[in-house]
Amino acid sequence: MKLAGRMGRLGTETAFSVLAKAKALEAQGRDIIHLEIGEPDFDTAGHIVEAGCRALRSGETHYTPTAGIPELREAIAADVARSRGISVDPAQVVVTPGGKPIMFFAILALVERGDEVLMPNPAFPIYESMVDFVGGTPVFVPLRQENGFRFDLDEFGAGLSGKTRLVILNSPANPTGGVFTAEDIAGIAEILREYPEVTVLSDEIYARLLYSGSFASIASEPGFGPDQRTIVLDGFSKTYAMTGWRLGYGVMPEPLAEQVTKLQVNSNSCTAAATQHAGLAALHGPQDGVDRMLEEFRGRRDLIVAGLNDLPGVECISPQGAFYAFPKISATGHPAADLADLLLNEAGVACLSGTAFGRHGEGHLRLSYANSRENISRALDRMNEVLARTA
Ligand code: PLP
Repeated sequence: MKLAGRMGRLGTETAFSVLAKAKALEAQGRDIIHLEIGEPDFDTAGHIVEAGCRALRSGETHYTPTAGIPELREAIAADVARSRGISVDPAQVVVTPGGKPIMFFAILALVERGDEVLMPNPAFPIYESMVDFVGGTPVFVPLRQENGFRFDLDEFGAGLSGKTRLVILNSPANPTGGVFTAEDIAGIAEILREYPEVTVLSDEIYARLLYSGSFASIASEPGFGPDQRTIVLDGFSKTYAMTGWRLGYGVMPEPLAEQVTKLQVNSNSCTAAATQHAGLAALHGPQDGVDRMLEEFRGRRDLIVAGLNDLPGVECISPQGAFYAFPKISATGHPAADLADLLLNEAGVACLSGTAFGRHGEGHLRLSYANSRENISRALDRMNEVLARTA
């Protein structure tokens, strides 16, 4: 079958293919430790599940308004306004099945062929994939371990040009666990003030998974509100352990929200009604489960970072947010993709090569520590054995 040429430009998310490979090995009877997929291993809280079930039982089994049910858009607007210290109108909120469609829709709505999009690298691979797909040009700002995986602001400024249409930010970050400080965000905003036509897509899906300090969003900077030129992407997948429910949102200038809504009506129509009611319960209900999850992630982070630094040729800084460790493994002598394959095939440890997140990810692995402490310890033992044997 002849496919449209654009399909050759569409990338993928390796986490899903490695998960499939790991599952196939499991089906053959192998014992696999999953450190590849980026989702909390916790169950969704009972009161959220109950709200979803109640919605289904009470007949919430129909289409909803495309941009989401009004109660949820209001609750999201209030939550984003409170957490970012800004004002948000519910008309600026578009509810989507997961946060990912916001990337897809925003890039489709904004980026023309030949436009440049500045983005971190390594980063969530869908940014690059989508920009390539629409014929835009990704421009990378490297993230380096020496700099805590934060931007070098001179490099950031040098990446901007008259062709830049969109800047993508992600903090706390996948795959590095790096976090932009308030000073970083202020510095980025200062540089972008010279480029008033540039829109910012701020992927804040890990905003609540921050281990110290307070969260800094560019949407809080004067001139960068979501009523001006920032699209805030956030959602329920990571914060409330709801990846399988598919619930996220974007907050953006109202005229753009109307266009994104149009893209949604042209594709998936709306987000599942019961899922939206579950999301409402998540926002209105107790938040202590989020704090407990974060404390558990903190303990696992400390365990995995200490263990990784004990491995031969491995060096890992402590991630400041999200639930990923991104150790430097170049001193092991293995290219990252080879080491990830070796660990899966010979040790049953599924993790990702840093190169799954772009070329600046070479020399690193990404390990998700959304797994039990027992499994993390077992994985470290197995990694130690492989590295000692192949040194
Ligand atoms: N943004 C980043 C940086 C992510 O890591 C992910 C998921 O892994 C998403 C967005 C998408 O989240 P969702 O599952 O809500 O679509």
